Amino acid sequence: MLNWILAVPAAAAVAGAAWRARSLSGSGAVAATGVGAVVLAFGGIGAAIILVIFFAASSALSALPGADTRSRRGARQVLANGSVAAAAIAAHAIFPSADMAFLGALAAATADTWATEIGVRFGATPRSILTLRPRPRGASGAVSLVGTLGSVAGALALGATGQLFLELPGCGWGAVALAGFIGALFDSLLGDGLQAVYRCPECGAQPETARHRDCPHRAERLSGVPGLDNDVVNWITTIVGAGSAVALQSLC
Ligand SMILES: [Zn+2]
Repeated sequence: MLNWILAVPAAAAVAGAAWRARSLSGSGAVAATGVGAVVLAFGGIGAAIILVIFFAASSALSALPGADTRSRRGARQVLANGSVAAAAIAAHAIFPSADMAFLGALAAATADTWATEIGVRFGATPRSILTLRPRPRGASGAVSLVGTLGSVAGALALGATGQLFLELPGCGWGAVALAGFIGALFDSLLGDGLQAVYRCPECGAQPETARHRDCPHRAERLSGVPGLDNDVVNWITTIVGAGSAVALQSLC
């Protein structure tokens, strides 16, 4: 109980700072408080530091000049990136290997985010991962060499911080990093092959989810699997990262 009395206000303080910095919407801050409190209460300060580093680095990258990817993250986006990690760390007391799932989920989210933020700014024309045809910058499933290097860097960064703060056994950091890269690769394959593509009839935007920023209307689905929008793909990506990290560590 003492854990929660400390964890909830601490998480709310960090989420509140992110809301003031315009990184989170109101609903995003509430969801981030929930994710942060679970991670701090069940995983301790080391796990919470890793979560904050992931979030701060992703927000800092999206604030870099060169592309307009900065927007307040809502509850759905926060849960897409953080709910699997939170569930894994909550299961850690019963399943000791769940700390690898926590790190693998965050590594996949980090690798995917860094690939996008770095790729749209510094990458050459991206190509479809399935057909290799040129795609618009920032399109789901479009990959570039620089973006892929960004994904490797993000996965390695999460593996290294995991090693530092959670004292992983043996080659655990490498398993986390590789799991993150596998997750991001899976994200690109889903994004290119199955993810829903939307267009808003009112404002003409081509958002990655039906609800989009600065517009009260819902975008219509042009193609792809119904309901499989960018948030759902990101959520599946973190599950792939979590499962990969557990499986890879058993090979260490
Ligand atoms: Zn619109």
